Amino acid sequence: MKQTYAIIGLGRFGGALLETLVANGQDVLGIDINEENVNDYRDIATQVVIADAQEDDVLRKLDIGSFDHVVIAIGHNMQASILATINAKDLGAKNVIAKAENKIHLRVLTKIGADLVVQPEREMGERVGRKLLAPNMLNFIELSDEYSMAEVQVVNPQFAGKTISELNIHKKFGLNVIAVRHEGEVLVAPKASYRIHDKDILSVVGPKDMVDDFDQMTNN
Ligand code: ATP
Repeated sequence: MKQTYAIIGLGRFGGALLETLVANGQDVLGIDINEENVNDYRDIATQVVIADAQEDDVLRKLDIGSFDHVVIAIGHNMQASILATINAKDLGAKNVIAKAENKIHLRVLTKIGADLVVQPEREMGERVGRKLLAPNMLNFIELSDEYSMAEVQVVNPQFAGKTISELNIHKKFGLNVIAVRHEGEVLVAPKASYRIHDKDILSVVGPKDMVDDFDQMTNN
């Protein structure tokens, strides 16, 4: 479904986000104070504007409140990031996603009403760390402080040929197998009698530490 997006700040983060959304057929307005940055996206974005997003009436004139999603992708200039977030929320933007530089910035953005605050460097650092520690974990989503969802590839020959119930995945780990990918085919909600093959990718959901333990077990 086509949605409308406004991205304020066209640095590496905002720029990559804009390119991804446009490549997937979305309407994107890009805003940046720096003319050179704006020019980089002139032929890509639906519309670009050179403007200082912390000025009171800039976001109002652009009718920011009418966009489905507004992303504040300004990091270093914390004042601009905070004012742009407040202005976007005051103008009625339903979903404001803001990028934070550090923990304090994150707390402030959350307090002033950002619907989602991201810390790309921190999140990517954690992701790379997890990838190094658990190379079979293809994807990991933190659902809460306690629960996560992960895609784990089976490379332990002792797993292959056994059914989900024989492996006691639910009892031993407290995990639910919600899908299995076998040679490109996805089987949603597999039965307990499903026989696991080497290289199958299991999507599991459950307590975080158990997801980690399960990943270790699926290793050789
Ligand atoms: P990235 O990591 O995304 O490259 P950065 O942290 O290196 O970003 P920032 O200082 O966060 O750089 O700036 C991101 C973008 O936001 C820049 O292109 C900058 O010109 C733009 N920007 C900064 N202040 C404002 C403002 N007041 N209004 C609009 N755009 C702004």
